[in-house]
Amino acid sequence: MDRTLNGARREGTEFQNRVRVFDTTLRDGEQTPGIQLLPEKKLKIALALEDAGCDIIEAGFPVSGDNEKEAVRLIAREVSNAEVAVLCRPIPSEIDLCEDVLSKCSHPRLHLWIATSPIHMKHKLNMTPLKVMEKAIGAIHYAAGKFETVQFSSEDATRSNIDFLNGMMREAVRSGAHVVNLADTVGCALPEHVALMVREVRGAVKDRVPVGIHCHNDLGLATSNTISAIRAGARQMDVTVTGVGERAGNASLEQIAVALDFHSKHLKVRTGMDLSKLGGLCDLVISEMKIRTATCQPLIGMNSFRHESGIHIHGMLNNPMTYEVVDPKDLGMEKGQYVLGKHSGKAAVGHFLARKGLELSEEELTRLTDFVKENSLVNGSISNEDELLRLAQEKGIFPKQKVGDLKGVGGEMKDEGGERNAA
Ligand code: MN
Repeated sequence: MDRTLNGARREGTEFQNRVRVFDTTLRDGEQTPGIQLLPEKKLKIALALEDAGCDIIEAGFPVSGDNEKEAVRLIAREVSNAEVAVLCRPIPSEIDLCEDVLSKCSHPRLHLWIATSPIHMKHKLNMTPLKVMEKAIGAIHYAAGKFETVQFSSEDATRSNIDFLNGMMREAVRSGAHVVNLADTVGCALPEHVALMVREVRGAVKDRVPVGIHCHNDLGLATSNTISAIRAGARQMDVTVTGVGERAGNASLEQIAVALDFHSKHLKVRTGMDLSKLGGLCDLVISEMKIRTATCQPLIGMNSFRHESGIHIHGMLNNPMTYEVVDPKDLGMEKGQYVLGKHSGKAAVGHFLARKGLELSEEELTRLTDFVKENSLVNGSISNEDELLRLAQEKGIFPKQKVGDLKGVGGEMKDEGGERNAA
């Protein structure tokens, strides 16, 4: 039996250092309370995921309804390069259904799963561990050969008995699973816990198949836990765009893709993502799913690339690397923004004027900066040049045209930026 990863078949020896992106925005992400997408909307997102370089797109949970089946069929037909996965319980009739909805798919993947923790086995499945094992293994046997790839996931792996988990994964691979996947379903694990679990399971399956990781963000650790798993040898990561998902969400594609890229030399791994497509992808998911991002949400929050403090803006004007980990333009995102307020200094106020080709004497600039700070306490921050000029006029300050120097006109923020890529 061919035990190699699809990636190995397609990409030769590079597979050792390649982390495959399994995007579940359309399955775990869509399970978010209050989110539901029509099939054509799901297709639109699936095509954008494929275009951005996701390796596997989990399209849905077909048994959940006719609308979902239709969406999966549509995605299976239209997506050609990425694998299309569907979630499936270990039930033969459900496996048949999944085979049917994926019948037109170029690279179909069946994603079988069962819970392996004592609390889930007892209080949800109402099964003994032996029964759980029998059910899972029977289903993998049944599915093997029907799909190009069979992935088997342990739900609540991080709260499972490690010996039981190891035995389950060993049997899963013997029975034909091509990928085994470990879920931190309630987002309770710590990074070292996840790393230990990945190493254990890699040992149990003797690295004959890749081990994947699926993290939730209930304690804000989804990104750390996913990276920790990758450092321990996980070669597939489950993510969603913007981190959308049940409760506090799933591990976020954009955060991890950028973190792995930033540290690629150190971690010696890479994804197939085109980072310049992340901005458009996030915007699409935010608008189609009608979700709101947090103000300080990494990379995509309103303030992720906004600066007000005088010291920060001064540093940014000299070299954007002083206070930003990545240039938003490299992620296909709008350039960042400076705002003037309580924390701003003369360099920032002077920069706003320079963008209009204007300047002030040192003394007048100090006065205007003081007014900006004072004004912000009542009226909030200033985010464009015209507002600043109005305030200046109110206070009887009249900036003059800068002679022969119109550098920066047009509102460019990073007009004086230096090299960004850290060694
Ligand atoms: Mn999940």
